[in-house]
Amino acid sequence: MTPDHYFGSSLGIEGPTELNATTMARVSWRRRSRGCLFTFHRAAASDVWANLPNRKFYLDLDFLDRFLTYLKQKQWAVVTIDEAIRRASLNKAGDRYVNFSVDDCYRDTFEAVVPVFRRHGVPLTLYVTTGIPDGTAALWYTGLEDVIATRERVKVGSQTIETQSILAKRKAFRQVSSAWDGPCADEHYAAFCRSNDVDPKAIRESHAISWDMLDTLRNDDLVEIGAHTMSHARISSLTRSAALAEIAGSGERLRRRLGVPVRHFAFPYGRRSDCGPRDFDFVREAGFASAATTRKGLIQTSSAPFVLPRNTLNGSHQNIAIMEAHLSGLSGLAAKWLHID
Ligand SMILES: [Zn+2]
Repeated sequence: MTPDHYFGSSLGIEGPTELNATTMARVSWRRRSRGCLFTFHRAAASDVWANLPNRKFYLDLDFLDRFLTYLKQKQWAVVTIDEAIRRASLNKAGDRYVNFSVDDCYRDTFEAVVPVFRRHGVPLTLYVTTGIPDGTAALWYTGLEDVIATRERVKVGSQTIETQSILAKRKAFRQVSSAWDGPCADEHYAAFCRSNDVDPKAIRESHAISWDMLDTLRNDDLVEIGAHTMSHARISSLTRSAALAEIAGSGERLRRRLGVPVRHFAFPYGRRSDCGPRDFDFVREAGFASAATTRKGLIQTSSAPFVLPRNTLNGSHQNIAIMEAHLSGLSGLAAKWLHID
C-alpha cells in the first residue's frame, strides 16, 4: 500500500485519484512533524493566582495540570530541548512533540512546578538566571508585586497609592512597573523599599530559587538545566565583551556549581529587538548547542538551533483553544504577519 492509499483510506477517501490538491495539502500539513516549545516564568495555585497583581506572569497550576493531561490524550510527546532538536532534524512524518521551559527560576519552580511535571512523568527545562540563586539580582519586579499584594497603600516617590482592592493592586503594579522599567529600575526599587520600610533581602529570599534547591533538581532525570544569563540583561543592548560575559559566565557558573552539562541557553526577553544575529553567534562561540528566543511559532527542520522559537504562556490565557493556536503554528504565523515578535 502506497502512502497515498494509506492517507486516503484514513480520511474515508477511496483512492489517490480522488484526492484533490486541497485535501493533499491538508493531509501533508497534518502528517508533518510538529514541534512546539512553550515557556513561562512562575506558577501559582488557582486561589492564589486569582489575587495576584501581575497574574499573567504566572500559570495557574490547575490549568497546567489540565494542559499536560490534554497533550497526553492528543499524543503529543513532552521532551527536553536536547530531544526537540534531535526530532526536528529527523523530521519524521506525524511526529508531535512539545517542550516546556521555565525562565529565570524562582522558588515556585522548585516547590510547585517541578512536582507537576514529575507527577505526569514528563521532563521540564529550567533556564536559570544565576544572579537569582547567587543573590545578586535585585528582583525588583517580584519585590514590587509582593509589597503591592500585601499592603493597603504604598508610597512611590512623593505619591501614596491606594492598593486595597485587587483591581487597585493590578492597576498600581501596571503603572509603577512600566514607569520603572529600564536601566534605573533597581534604584527606583531601592528607594521604594526605604520609603515603605521593606527589607528587600527578605523579600528576595522568599521568592528566589536557591543553590540547595538546584542541587536537588540536578539529580532529577526529568529536569534539564540551561542558562539564562547572570543578571537577566537584554543581550542586544550590551557590548561584545559584556554580552559574552553574561552568556558564557552563566553557563560556567551553573556547570561549576552543579556539576552538570549545561548545553542550552535562552535569551532574556527574547524578542527580535532583544537578540539578533550577532548574539546568536555569541551563544555558539560560548559553546552552547542552542539558543531559545520568544519568537512565536513551531520548530522547523530548517530552524537554526540558535534561533529556537518559543511560545510564551500568558497566565490569563487559560483556554485549550488558545493552546491549540500555538500547537498548530497559527499564533506564530499571526505574529509574523503583524510584526509583533
Ligand atoms: Zn527571563
